[in-house]
Amino acid sequence: MSDPVSQELFARAQRVLPGGVNSPVRAFRAVGGEPVFITRARGSRIYGADGAEYVDYVGSWGPAILGHAEPEVVEVVRRTALDGLSFGAPTELEVRFAEAVRERVPSLELQRCTSSGTEATMSALRVARGATGRDLVVKMEGCYHGHADALLVKAGSGLATFGTPDSAGVPPGAAESTLVLPYNDLAALEAAFDRVGERIAAVILEPVAGNMGCVPPEPGYLPGVVELCARHGAISIFDEVMTGLRVAPGGAQERYGVTPRLTCLGKIVGGGMPLAIYGGASEVMRHISPLGRVYQAGTLSGNPLAVAAGLATLERLVPAVYERLEATSAALGDGLASLLRERGVAGVVQRVGSMLTLFFTERPVRSWSDAAGCDTERFARFHRGLLARGVYWPPSQFEAAFVSAAHEPADLDRTLSAARDALVS
Ligand SMILES: *Cc1c(COP(=O)(O)O)cnc(C)c1O
Repeated sequence: MSDPVSQELFARAQRVLPGGVNSPVRAFRAVGGEPVFITRARGSRIYGADGAEYVDYVGSWGPAILGHAEPEVVEVVRRTALDGLSFGAPTELEVRFAEAVRERVPSLELQRCTSSGTEATMSALRVARGATGRDLVVKMEGCYHGHADALLVKAGSGLATFGTPDSAGVPPGAAESTLVLPYNDLAALEAAFDRVGERIAAVILEPVAGNMGCVPPEPGYLPGVVELCARHGAISIFDEVMTGLRVAPGGAQERYGVTPRLTCLGKIVGGGMPLAIYGGASEVMRHISPLGRVYQAGTLSGNPLAVAAGLATLERLVPAVYERLEATSAALGDGLASLLRERGVAGVVQRVGSMLTLFFTERPVRSWSDAAGCDTERFARFHRGLLARGVYWPPSQFEAAFVSAAHEPADLDRTLSAARDALVS
């Protein structure tokens, strides 16, 4: 149950916003509750409309890796705002930002800013099609790449949660050129290339899946995907909107030592502001206008406030932060796993760095078909139990929880003691 103030706000919200929200998962439908309205956040904590304090594992769905409202990042944004909110013209700030991003992700020889992850993946597909002159795109079941028409097929989290594998309003043609294959299945990809290889423009995937819950790549999977693409003249795209700057400074491509042709970044890269990036090999990216014939643009792209927040966040993501994230996340993951044993509850904790999921299932989750077998009723009870005890966990079995650099031992103690109680209900 949410608090009375949130309930009143939710009633008002439903009169002006579809379902009372600006993005579906926020409505808490998958856990049968009503959303808590948030008034402010600081560090590892987030505060509800009635003033209640929660330990937060949503982190604005990823960006809050340093913790909420990191004082120096906020100060940089404040100072930048005094000089103007948007110019629609080039700035030194965006050049410095691009240089800093490329330092961490060297495969981004050329990159372009967009305002959302959706635009980044959509544009990456367009340039892949433009560069190869081919039409088909391969995506993996359970991976989410934003809500562009062509990618809204078997797309995990929000969609999985609502049991709508496809969205209404997507013309058949838009999804017809998208092939959907199981995640972590190299043989299936090889078979697709054997069948229609000369038509495949790109293969896009989450290098660590996060939108069906946290599902790591099997050994050999990522290098296999990149190699198959190279052999058949297709463009490999790592959608690192979630994993970029999270699972390692250089994202999953650094962590697993695999270099895709194109990469999408989002979430953390904007430090909480609307910003995402797509980019990669200059040979591919030079097809983008004004260099080439692939058109893509944005009035607010490279917005100075967003870029300033991103740059300030990047500068603070030093090696010691990743060590701390790893230690805190390992303690949380191990703690949850031992609670499952103690309580005799069937569950699996899967974690890569500071993203993790507790799946209510007997077996490890390697793909969407495994994830779909989870006990979502049990998850919903667990979620409500945590919320009632001051822990704000992602409101879906198919979302990853995020640990931030601001999470401390006291946060973990509170979380694990809430989880111990929430697991019996
Ligand atoms: C969140 C997400 C997106 C979409 O980004 P938006 O900014 O919400 O449009 C795309 N890909 C992945 C992997 C994501 O996690």
